[in-house]
Amino acid sequence: MGKSSKDKRDLYYRKAKEQGYRARSAFKLLQLNEEFHFLDDPNLKRVVDLCAAPGSWSQVLSRKLFEKSDATDKQIVAVDLQAMVPINHVTSLQADITHPRTLHQILELFGNHRADFVCSDGAPDVTGLHDLDEYVQQQLIMSALQLTVCILKRGGTFVAKVFRGRDIDLVYAQLGYLFEHVTCAKPRSSRGSSLEAFVVCQGYNPPDGWQPSLDTNSSVVEFFQDCPVGSEDNRTIAPFMACGSLESFDSDATYHVEPSATSLDPVQLPTNPPYKQALELKRSGRLTRAV
Ligand code: SAM
Repeated sequence: MGKSSKDKRDLYYRKAKEQGYRARSAFKLLQLNEEFHFLDDPNLKRVVDLCAAPGSWSQVLSRKLFEKSDATDKQIVAVDLQAMVPINHVTSLQADITHPRTLHQILELFGNHRADFVCSDGAPDVTGLHDLDEYVQQQLIMSALQLTVCILKRGGTFVAKVFRGRDIDLVYAQLGYLFEHVTCAKPRSSRGSSLEAFVVCQGYNPPDGWQPSLDTNSSVVEFFQDCPVGSEDNRTIAPFMACGSLESFDSDATYHVEPSATSLDPVQLPTNPPYKQALELKRSGRLTRAV
């Protein structure tokens, strides 16, 4: 499929390019914010974007936090395994969110102050084996949560992508122990046909005296052992909220784009995409398929 046909098939893809966003995911964060207004708080100073590449959420954060002034007391740190092309007002770290060193690097950048807001749009590479993919995705959410509880200030907000699979009610229950309000939100720009949704967790409220610390050798269970985050039997259903006004586009629909409309180039080409090596091998005739 050429990029011009994708421009027609997916209006968010086209709108992202028109508005200078590196990915259509920008609209997911914007529509979540339309409902919850977490980025409109003038006291938002330190923000962390986990799993940030190619950077459209960081672009939204940068535009929101710095739209009125070049405030010197605000900081945005973006973390991803992939390198990111620089974005104004964003410090990027090429790092693994599951490694304790990443937490220390962020804290160092914040001068040991805690963050007001953490978001994570993390997605692992999919294998096509559904059970394995679901398991790895849940592990990534737990890693994002572990890092978040070590860095978020009391009262802060955490927003993360989840897949509403079999055990998502366990995740809601665990989040419910740590935050005052947990909502499962689905922006209109997230395809209705996908299990993707976002947990919006407001009012971080850890147990008094709990001092979580990340350690590569400890399991999730060990990490939370001094914090009563519930047991396997505890499952909750989080309230569900559809976000994005009714005038916004339906991400499952195909729209008519004027035939005269030219297709737009990507805002930012990938820096070092995983398929780069395969393309180089193919061009040099060294990519062979086993028969
Ligand atoms: N929010 C981004 C945006 O708006 O441009 C899109 C994020 S993309 C859907 C998911 C990202 O998660 C990928 O860039 C991937 O490299 C990153 N990721 C997956 N596992 C990670 C890990 N362990 N540490 C850091 N980043 C990770």
